[in-house]
Amino acid sequence: MLSGRMMDRPLLVIDILRHAAEAFPASRIASRTVEGPIHRYTYADAFRRTAKLAHALGQLGIGDGDRVATIAWNTYRHFELYYGVSGIGAVCHTINPRLFADQLDYIVNHADDRAIFVDLNLVPLVEQLADRCAGVRHVVIMTDREHMPRTSLEQAICYEEILEDMPETFDWPCLDENTAAAMCYTSGTTGNPKGSLYSHRSTVLHALGVLAPGIFPLNREAVVMPVVPMFHVQAWGQPYAAPICGASLVLPGARLDGESLHQLMESEGVTLALGVPTIWLGLLAWLRQSGKGLSTVARLLTGGAAAPLSMFRAWEEEYGVEVLQGWGMTETSPVCACGAYGSALDVAEGDERYVCKLRQQRLFGVELRLVDDDGQPVPADGIAQGELQCRGPWVIDSYYNDDAATSAAFTDDGWFRTGDVATLAAESMLQITDRTKDMIKSGGEWISSIDLENEVMSHPAVAEAAAIAMPHPRWQERPMLIVVLNPDQTAGSDDIRRHLEGRIAKWWMPDDIVFVDDLPHTATGKVSKLQLRERFRDHVLPTA
Ligand code: ADP
Repeated sequence: MLSGRMMDRPLLVIDILRHAAEAFPASRIASRTVEGPIHRYTYADAFRRTAKLAHALGQLGIGDGDRVATIAWNTYRHFELYYGVSGIGAVCHTINPRLFADQLDYIVNHADDRAIFVDLNLVPLVEQLADRCAGVRHVVIMTDREHMPRTSLEQAICYEEILEDMPETFDWPCLDENTAAAMCYTSGTTGNPKGSLYSHRSTVLHALGVLAPGIFPLNREAVVMPVVPMFHVQAWGQPYAAPICGASLVLPGARLDGESLHQLMESEGVTLALGVPTIWLGLLAWLRQSGKGLSTVARLLTGGAAAPLSMFRAWEEEYGVEVLQGWGMTETSPVCACGAYGSALDVAEGDERYVCKLRQQRLFGVELRLVDDDGQPVPADGIAQGELQCRGPWVIDSYYNDDAATSAAFTDDGWFRTGDVATLAAESMLQITDRTKDMIKSGGEWISSIDLENEVMSHPAVAEAAAIAMPHPRWQERPMLIVVLNPDQTAGSDDIRRHLEGRIAKWWMPDDIVFVDDLPHTATGKVSKLQLRERFRDHVLPTA
């Protein structure tokens, strides 16, 4: 082999912030603090405070490879932890505060976290955890001295106090780029949560991957608001991608309701915001109700769960906001496919345009393939469905300390089995049609719950809907629909059935339609089909 004659310089997370501080010193980070007011500062300020944090971590005895947990909302202090912890060679382990207590215990102990950094309003959660997590030596409350709460935690210390007298520069170590930088556990809808351990290299490459032109144009003028939490797969990489190109960041803290988001989008001039469909449906409902509009937002990125076509249409036609979709998983850093609709959109007209937008294009760096139940390849013809498998430099190669989960999740030839069912069309266009465990198999044929939900959600009275499989003596399984109506609107099963006629194949028509006040959601804001199946376990279909 003839080796290239290029410098082997590592790709390191801290170099992103160093670059932002030097190249875009005035680009800002605005945060809604947990204490209340909006905090604003620049990347240059953030870099200085991150140096202070690095010194403070050293004084706490945290070093190479130590896992440092954060249980926190999207704010500037959490941003500093992303960089400071990884920068010294430790691992920033973000934890979802909405998980059940036993999952939190499991995660902190399995990761063997040395310290927990926690937001003010989440301290009670750590108070309950502390006794059961013997490895945790320090609990740092992310606030200033003035706001320090009374707490039963003996080891509690104050974030601003530990930074106070520290120097504003730090001699950042030149780590190997394959050093672990960050960690995130899946929310564990089945079995125990499983840990993904990201490296500096994978994190930097992922950030560069999502910055590819044509996805969501990011630059120094952009103002990006990740509503997706920083505890949920690194806020889809935005805290790393935005500083690379100098985009300003807006971090919404703990308040994610429509009114609070609207207020912050307007006051900070947000141009792009990212979040799960539930957030965008909530904001849409609030805007319609309040009669308010958005003056600066041009694009929303939706991901983490299938978004209904009606949502794309409503945002574009009522508010002039373009909605892009991304696909990814905790195990894939997360983004593997995003936006960019390809040439189909050039010729699409009317509703066809929105259909194009339900697809997302594979990012450079990631490979995707579909296989059938026997592991045989499924054609990428935009019609045939198969289990989606992927590989790439920001996809895990194993779960953290979990051999059983690892061997179940990888194929013999080293591809990651996503558990999603999808189609792949020309120009590497991906469309997720289901999760393997959510599919409805009627008489041996698959019904896509996502497609079915999508059609129901286009009924003007429907706020949210989920389709689940119910046992059936003749067809093995038949679909049942669970529907939430918009406030002050009415519709009966017959209206919904009439609406579906002609939009779906006849045999997809749900055998039962049930109306409820709300649907259960997971810790990351997705409809929890697991809980729905539990809730309707004893329900019998009228056709059964
Ligand atoms: P969990 O949902 O278990 O917390 P993740 O946040 O990692 O874990 O979720 C990943 C899953 O979310 C994917 O496997 C897929 O089922 C779903 N998902 C993500 N993006 C999309 C999308 N654009 N369309 C449909 N489903 C999606």
